[in-house]
Amino acid sequence: MLMEKLRTHHTRDIEPEEMADKSVTLAGWVHEVRDLGGICFVVLRDREGMAQVTLVKKKVDSDFFNKAKKLMRESVISVTGTVKPEEKAPNGYEVLPDDITVLNESCTPLPLDTTGKVEAEMDTCLDSRYVDLRKPRTSAIFKIRHEVLKAVRDNFTREGFIETTTPKVVATATEGGTSLFPITYFDREAFLNQSPQLFKQILMSGGLEKVFEIGPIFRAEEHDTRRHLNEATSIDMESSFSDHFDIMETLENTIAHAYSQVKENASQQLEYLGIDLEVPETPFKRLTYSEAIDIINQYGKEELEWGDDLSTLSEHTLGEHVYNETGAHHYFIIDWPTEIKPFYAMPYEDNPEISKTFDMMHTRLELSSGAQRIHYYDMLKNRIENQGLDPDSFDFYLDAFRYGMPPHAGWGLGCERLLMTMLGLENIREVVLFPRDRRRLSP
Ligand code: ATP
Ligand code: MG
Repeated sequence: MLMEKLRTHHTRDIEPEEMADKSVTLAGWVHEVRDLGGICFVVLRDREGMAQVTLVKKKVDSDFFNKAKKLMRESVISVTGTVKPEEKAPNGYEVLPDDITVLNESCTPLPLDTTGKVEAEMDTCLDSRYVDLRKPRTSAIFKIRHEVLKAVRDNFTREGFIETTTPKVVATATEGGTSLFPITYFDREAFLNQSPQLFKQILMSGGLEKVFEIGPIFRAEEHDTRRHLNEATSIDMESSFSDHFDIMETLENTIAHAYSQVKENASQQLEYLGIDLEVPETPFKRLTYSEAIDIINQYGKEELEWGDDLSTLSEHTLGEHVYNETGAHHYFIIDWPTEIKPFYAMPYEDNPEISKTFDMMHTRLELSSGAQRIHYYDMLKNRIENQGLDPDSFDFYLDAFRYGMPPHAGWGLGCERLLMTMLGLENIREVVLFPRDRRRLSP
């Protein structure tokens, strides 16, 4: 089989002392060639790390030496040779090669420096993701993304949730906003879904009780910020027989589990990124919306009135205040004015101006929004009308509330925002392979 012929080990699998003098075959990319005259180092890089391949001029055939010297960076090679412990080399060993096969030669010059010595602009990195991903720092981010998604799935499974997928091509806007991408669906107009909200509520009523989905959401908002994408990955859940407080616990558990799994399974990647990850302590602090407004008015640079939505600036004031007080990045803002939350949010029975809602925040931005949902048909229909929407276009959704809809609650958590805050990255585009934003549609 090809795989065995081209590679017996990954660079990380080699134990220098135990495997000294053994023959191994490594496969990967030429990270760097250092020609020191009498000695030539070829640094081979694979997904797991680097290995130094050392050729001493006097000891090898001169053609072989010259060929190695001229290897192009980022060419794909397979190297067979013997292992020699060497403290100064990466991973504590070098390989003395018998054979180097070039599997495919790379063009030159490269669109960016894969050794990370020369920093490239974000746009250059995104235009050339295929090469950018070769940088250990970039690939570390996406391995951590994998660990986060795996941990999220684990936690949902552990808590009895069923994974679902809902349609992304839909006929109705979720929240009636204008932030939708219209598409042509045969001879009709359709949209790319901005949230699985309505579908996950229907699913949950249909006997699955506790559901989750990890999938794309599309938002045609024209913002050009470092925390918004036009296509993002949303981690969504909906849980029957639950209120907002029940699902806040699931959210805290999800976050804490993601952090601890990354810490456990991606220590090498965290090292590449220079991060000493702290698992957040649960439960997270809970502030009411009214308390948040008071803090913003007392400590912030702007005056907000009860009923206003929080601006980016006020989110910063609040996050910094909470962090100074508690030393924690994550916190909840609960009990929002009903008017500024979506129509499906459940108002408190004894004070309908306030709703059973929350946002979960990280110091500088929102990570998640959630709520207990309205499960009464009439109330929901009224709320849709009050928000100036046409209940007829919500038939498919409203119907589900006529045939035994349990009380329920749910949240949506931005996968990219979770990752960028976990890794302390400033720009959300860093954690998406091929970001879609105001200007970027390719690659
Ligand atoms: P914001 O006010 O920060 O724009 P939102 O309140 O519009 O967010 P929700 O509709 O509450 O967002 O979506 C739930 C979560 O999905 C958000 O908390 C966020 O983590 C993520 N999310 C929403 N829109 C985007 C986007 N355009 N880009 C990246 N993540 C997003
Ligand atoms: Mg929100």
